[in-house]
Amino acid sequence: MAQNLEPDPTLIGGVPTPPFAFLPEPVKLFQTRARRFAFLAESNPLAPYLAFLAELSRLQARLAATLRPVSAIAPMRVTEAARSAMPPIDRLRISADPALGVTLDAFVEGAVRFSMPEPARLALDAVRAAEPADRIWLLSNILSDRIPDDSAAPHLFAAAAVQVHLARLAATLDAGALVPVGTGLCPACGGRPATTSVMGTQGIENVRYAACACCATCWNEVRVKCLCCGSTKGISYRSVETTEATVKAETCKECHSWIKIFYTTKNPSLDPVADDVGSLGLDILMKETDFRRGGFNPYLAGY
Ligand SMILES: [Zn+2]
Ligand SMILES: [Zn+2]
Repeated sequence: MAQNLEPDPTLIGGVPTPPFAFLPEPVKLFQTRARRFAFLAESNPLAPYLAFLAELSRLQARLAATLRPVSAIAPMRVTEAARSAMPPIDRLRISADPALGVTLDAFVEGAVRFSMPEPARLALDAVRAAEPADRIWLLSNILSDRIPDDSAAPHLFAAAAVQVHLARLAATLDAGALVPVGTGLCPACGGRPATTSVMGTQGIENVRYAACACCATCWNEVRVKCLCCGSTKGISYRSVETTEATVKAETCKECHSWIKIFYTTKNPSLDPVADDVGSLGLDILMKETDFRRGGFNPYLAGY
């Protein structure tokens, strides 16, 4: 009994606050994602596509390791952005950034030797031959989290290059200097999340983080909240499995959107982007409802 009266050292001074944001480690990020795509390809109806995305992620990892280092965002810009609750990475300017152009070139040249279906091959050749204005159009669509319905394939290649460039830029930031910029928006680049995860890692157990679809920064969000409109009312969950689901759709009655929530508490291997593609069955289920998908993932644009 006396033992129970002793103060719990972990509670002295209050429970530690979970970090607001985690920045990506680009090489590790894409290597881990490549392995996950390869694993998912072993037992999934989308196997050829998942194997292609594994190869694409391996190329992203190689580029993240070998391209010239990106110039860090100026500390002054970071401070000014934080003061006005804006993300330090300015997406509007980045579509014409020569360093992003170099990344796109390196990506499409590296992807030439991949095996892929004919429509993807034609799209890759089109991006390689595209005029500067068309390339900027592709990149700025990705940077606006928007993909035209009839142009999924060329945007997939542009998105892969944007992911490499933005993850490298985000990695130059100081996570402690980031501030919330709005519900469901990345504090580093202002983008939309692909998915969200309830974490199983010690120290942030059961805390929810959203993962940016473009720069891969993860940021803390309330556990039960619509990341499209910010409502905490009218939230409910659906899943393909009826019990022990590791992936659910969080739906919002207020704005009629939904976003995936992963339970890494149950499966620590879930990857915010790879498992989003791997759980396409949930998207198919949700397409039969009147909820619209709120997560952004260029790899799912054609589905
Ligand atoms: Zn971001
Ligand atoms: Zn909502």
